[in-house]
Amino acid sequence: MLKQAEILWQRERLTRVREWQDHRPYAEFLKDENIQSCLCRHRLADRAQVEDIIRKARDNATTGTMLSPDDVAVLVNVEDPQLWESIYEAAGWIKRTVYGNRIVLFAPLYVSSPCVNDCTYCGFRSGNPEVHKRSLTIEELRRELLALVDVGHKRLIMVFGEHPASDHEYICRSVEAAYQIKNGPGEIRRANVNAAPLFDSEYKEVHAVGIGTYQVFQETYHRPTYERLHPKGTLKGEYDWRLYALHRAQSAGIDDVGMGVLFGLYDWRYELLGLLYHAMALEKEFGVGPHTISYPRLEPAEGTPFATRSPWIVSDHDFLKIVAVIRLMCPYTGSILTAREKPDLRRQVIRQGGVSQMDAGSRIAVGGYSQMEHAHLPDRQQFLLADTRSLDEFILDLCQEGYLPSFCTAGYREGRTGANFMPLAKHATVKNFCIANGILTFQEYLLDYASEAVRKIGRERIIPNYLEWIDAQVPAVAGRIRENLNRMEVHTNRDLHI
Ligand code: SF4
Repeated sequence: MLKQAEILWQRERLTRVREWQDHRPYAEFLKDENIQSCLCRHRLADRAQVEDIIRKARDNATTGTMLSPDDVAVLVNVEDPQLWESIYEAAGWIKRTVYGNRIVLFAPLYVSSPCVNDCTYCGFRSGNPEVHKRSLTIEELRRELLALVDVGHKRLIMVFGEHPASDHEYICRSVEAAYQIKNGPGEIRRANVNAAPLFDSEYKEVHAVGIGTYQVFQETYHRPTYERLHPKGTLKGEYDWRLYALHRAQSAGIDDVGMGVLFGLYDWRYELLGLLYHAMALEKEFGVGPHTISYPRLEPAEGTPFATRSPWIVSDHDFLKIVAVIRLMCPYTGSILTAREKPDLRRQVIRQGGVSQMDAGSRIAVGGYSQMEHAHLPDRQQFLLADTRSLDEFILDLCQEGYLPSFCTAGYREGRTGANFMPLAKHATVKNFCIANGILTFQEYLLDYASEAVRKIGRERIIPNYLEWIDAQVPAVAGRIRENLNRMEVHTNRDLHI
């Protein structure tokens, strides 16, 4: 139950939220009837039409054009397994064409869990007494950060509950603490943030401390479902406030934004069209679409029966379809696959879904990294993780599959964000930077943190393979990359990037 001060904070904010909604400065972009009729119209797609769309999606990989709602409605209605195989093959190809064969690695960092909202599916909801909720002090946060940099992480997604104790000022102090952390070669170079929708002035302050990508997931685009699962009278209950959160963030200067859906709340086909309309709206308004798309699935959580009883729970089979269609639909976007999924499925989805970013060595209890030996602390988590391998184990697996593990953050520090980043991703030239900087950051990992097994495969197979790729595709930087690798090894230089 909420305390009096929390109720008052929420009430005061709700008044301002509703005022904003009454004078919303952005055009409506999502109409239920458009999505429903589009899905209905294409219930029976013919083979030639599907093959045409797959061809178009491949062509779009070098122009950055998104598929249309009609195209996506055709794809989600495909039933022929052979056609799905062609879709998976195209998804993998598009990913390799745009980003190369690298996987960017990050850690989720749950900074605070108290929340004034009461979302039916969430372990952190205010009405759930079975999960213990707390916000880290800055000192505790530093301990978490040290645990992360000491295993080699460089990129975070910092997660905050919606609560007076974790308001935008707390977010700012936490991000500053992340950038200040140093331990030998260990440091955080990119702090992305997943937090509740804010007001314009609050976004400006959060932007000023240098956050990376700002994520808000709509959870479900289906308004009646949204209203049922997010009680009226809570901040999260305001659908439009959340729907336009990324618009407000972009207009406040945060030029990399991440969208997502919690799959399992409603029909996944509908949600994919919701994501597409949302991405189109951002492109239209700002000329910059989503930097990333995430697709978490509903997972079991303590004291949360809905999480296992939803009528829309997504099977592994459909999950693979979702990830692949996202890649075809929006070729330039970063595609984030999390440790909610089991290792075997993750392997398959990387290959067939066109994934570009993954978390590894994740712990999602608040304070969980300083207690690394516990894979789960269920009474302190929002949900349960399925992949609890260490960062090093995960990297070994990636290497055995031939991928380049990357901790690259160069783009952001070289000004390749927002409108500067988009042309590179849309014309599929960004991979030249991705592979080059991926090699350099992987070399850092090998020198500073890797186990013997990872060091061996990294030095003998992964780095030579990707240097060969650089020699063939971007010979102009090959000399510089080799020189930087050498400087790291011999002179202990770090953070070298192009
Ligand atoms: S889903 Fe987010 S907003 Fe809803 S109760 Fe959980 S932490 Fe709060």
